[in-house]
Amino acid sequence: TDFNYYNLNDLVEETLLLIKNEARYIVHIEKKLNDLPLIFCNRTQIGQVLLNIMMNAVQAIKSQKREEEGLMEISTFVSENYIVCEISDDGPGIDKNIIDKIFNPFFTTKEVGTGTGLGLSISYDIVVNKHAGELLVNSELGQGTTFTIKLPIKAIS
Ligand code: ADP
Ligand code: MG
Repeated sequence: TDFNYYNLNDLVEETLLLIKNEARYIVHIEKKLNDLPLIFCNRTQIGQVLLNIMMNAVQAIKSQKREEEGLMEISTFVSENYIVCEISDDGPGIDKNIIDKIFNPFFTTKEVGTGTGLGLSISYDIVVNKHAGELLVNSELGQGTTFTIKLPIKAIS
């Protein structure tokens, strides 16, 4: 399999290269990447999670009409036995009425043909079931959204 010891900051940087074009002129990206221990993870899967969440952030910002660039912030740090990656955007936020559904397969608010509604359900499966981690969301309508990925530092066998 693709499980090995990786530095999450490297996976974040690689994912940022993939979304750079999509974000150009529209989203300003701020990074606060702190030193991290290596974690035992599947790099393809964790890369997919990062890409899903960052693409959602960029699309959320693009869905709004605005005068200036939007902001996406990515921070990584250690908290207790976890490596934490927070991805925030200052987009439209998520309505309380739907926030319980966003991790469900096929749930999407995007136009037909633009979103499959699978990104977050796959991400949840990867983080929670495949890596014994946590995937959390915090959102304020009209303010923005933060997704928090927590991955256990202790090796999974
Ligand atoms: P998709 O992107 O294909 O719609 P996802 O599973 O990635 O599917 O996301 C599901 C839904 O969650 C989105 O359609 C959107 O309504 C909501 N969502 C996810 N991320 C954000 C975000 N950063 N800001 C606002 N809404 C979001
Ligand atoms: Mg998505």
